[in-house]
Amino acid sequence: MTTDPQVIRAAAPVIGEDEIEAAVRVLRSGMVVQGPEVAAFEEEFSKFVDGRHCVAVNSGTSALHLSLTALGIGPGDEVIVPSFTFAATANAVRLVGATPVFADIERDSFCLSPRAAEAAVTPRTAAIMPVHLYGHPAAMAELTAVAERHGLAVVEDAAQAHGAALDGTPVGAFGAAGCFSFYPTKNMHSLEGGMVTTGDAALARTLRLLRNQGMEQRYANEIVGFNVRMTDVSAAIGRVQLRSLDAWTDRRRANASALDAGLSGVITPPVAEGARHVYHQYTIRVDAEAGKDRDTVSRELQERGIGNAVYYPTPVHRLKPFRSGDRALGHVSGDLAETELAAAQALSVPVHPMLTPEELDRLTVTVNKVVEGRA
Ligand SMILES: *Cc1c(COP(=O)(O)O)cnc(C)c1O
Repeated sequence: MTTDPQVIRAAAPVIGEDEIEAAVRVLRSGMVVQGPEVAAFEEEFSKFVDGRHCVAVNSGTSALHLSLTALGIGPGDEVIVPSFTFAATANAVRLVGATPVFADIERDSFCLSPRAAEAAVTPRTAAIMPVHLYGHPAAMAELTAVAERHGLAVVEDAAQAHGAALDGTPVGAFGAAGCFSFYPTKNMHSLEGGMVTTGDAALARTLRLLRNQGMEQRYANEIVGFNVRMTDVSAAIGRVQLRSLDAWTDRRRANASALDAGLSGVITPPVAEGARHVYHQYTIRVDAEAGKDRDTVSRELQERGIGNAVYYPTPVHRLKPFRSGDRALGHVSGDLAETELAAAQALSVPVHPMLTPEELDRLTVTVNKVVEGRA
């Protein structure tokens, strides 16, 4: 990561004095593994998901993997996922031995299409895994209705959407389980870490067992489990970050409003009615037919000191582990036209809360110039 003041970074993870102090305090206490800080972090995070049970783990991927395991999903089951996402979503399905079935996304939200999800349902389908991509909530009312019609579980991949909501309900409070990530570039972090949220006390207990070798009481193992515990160092950092989450989200949303108003020549990200978008990414679409192609715009922005990134250049169904042709290892449902279009057009520009007003201006002016061919 560069420290050149002329360069506007794509992301700016915070490791401030408060985070350092919290980590040192835990290290000096000698109680560093899953302990009181983890319990406090879970309780505090619960307030952000309508009071649901929270189970902290060591990554967002573990949160997804544990959720599917706790729901009893495994070999022979199909799980409907978007292909336009980070590979972790589909990896979790494969890690439990189930089959990811890739369905298309909606144009505006970049999230799983309820219509495509319903068309992908077969007698083997066990769950739907919507992703609240870029911080925009997926269409949960419609997706929940599809799940209810077909008796499916819903597991939310909320790794990019801390604090996002739909009609006042926070993400992570819709599905049987919600899964968050606290990787450094996410809207808040714990170095590495994740959280499962659930309204079901029995499922929460199973998740706690799975997290720690199947034990609640030491050496009284009840089931076969993993070790995906969060350390108290991570939890202490997560607790510090959680205190700033609302303020950071407000900054992200204000930055996004400024970009919405200032950008021209590109398609800015629409927000669905009733949705609270938390802008993990501010993702524009660059239409090659209307001018330059996306990769040229990306390169020219980089050359002018504007960090930017393409999430995701290759849809997951075309990645090596999922394209073998063996249907059990992953296959597509219907056509993924919107997925392919998004993969060709999406470009994320900085929206993080550390942007200064001057940087936001320079970002806006430079994007407009590059897109219009004036830079
Ligand atoms: C980051 C991310 C994950 C995985 O989280 P980790 O903490 O990195 O394991 C899963 N899904 C999506 C959509 C993500 O962006």
